[in-house]
Amino acid sequence: MRISEIFYSLQGEGFLAGLPSVFIRLAGCPLRCRWCDTKYAWDESAGQDYGIAEIVETIQKWPCKFVVITGGEPMINPNLSQLAQRLKTAGKHITIETAGIVFVPDLPCDLMSISPKLTNSTPDDLKLAAIHEDSRLDIAVLRKLIDSYNYQLKFVVDGEADLAEIKQTIKTIGKVDLEKVMLMPQAATRNELLVKSPMVAEMCKSTGFTLCQRLQILLWNNERRS
Ligand code: SF4
Repeated sequence: MRISEIFYSLQGEGFLAGLPSVFIRLAGCPLRCRWCDTKYAWDESAGQDYGIAEIVETIQKWPCKFVVITGGEPMINPNLSQLAQRLKTAGKHITIETAGIVFVPDLPCDLMSISPKLTNSTPDDLKLAAIHEDSRLDIAVLRKLIDSYNYQLKFVVDGEADLAEIKQTIKTIGKVDLEKVMLMPQAATRNELLVKSPMVAEMCKSTGFTLCQRLQILLWNNERRS
């Protein structure tokens, strides 16, 4: 499998924030979001090749039950199922972080961390924007993911206007457990996070959604962890 990076850190986002976790970042993502913080993983050839046994052996050097398969977009990787099976056999708790654009059935996955992309993620480049708009939201896929897996639904908030789009998206998906919805400030730096968090906190108070932390930014600013 093409792996952008494997590293040990803390889960920074979502309901498992704060848990020491090993991250396996798969290469490749078609979306090209404007504010993406892992652009180095966009290209499917980014990083290096690993066999699945080699990945499992690599992560065993850290005494850690929690594994996060992230990207890029891990759900487009044809070997994801095999990797997840091997990690589960090794006794790991598996989170898969996805934009929710592809459905893969029967994955051993303890938490499907789904982050549907809003219009605030549209790239500035017009050609990339057209590709992004075509593929950023697939309601049928989102429905299947939340029907099939234990999940959390994380929306990146850039401004107050995003709330109407978030509510509409949730309504369109239908059957979303509102206690699993999180709002996460769009921020690449500690300063941006501190500036935007109070606005998102107020949104959470008015809706009952949960404020999603970004501990990795708070702790290490925009420094790459691997
Ligand atoms: S879906 Fe995620 S990895 Fe892909 S471009 Fe958007 S933020 Fe980056």
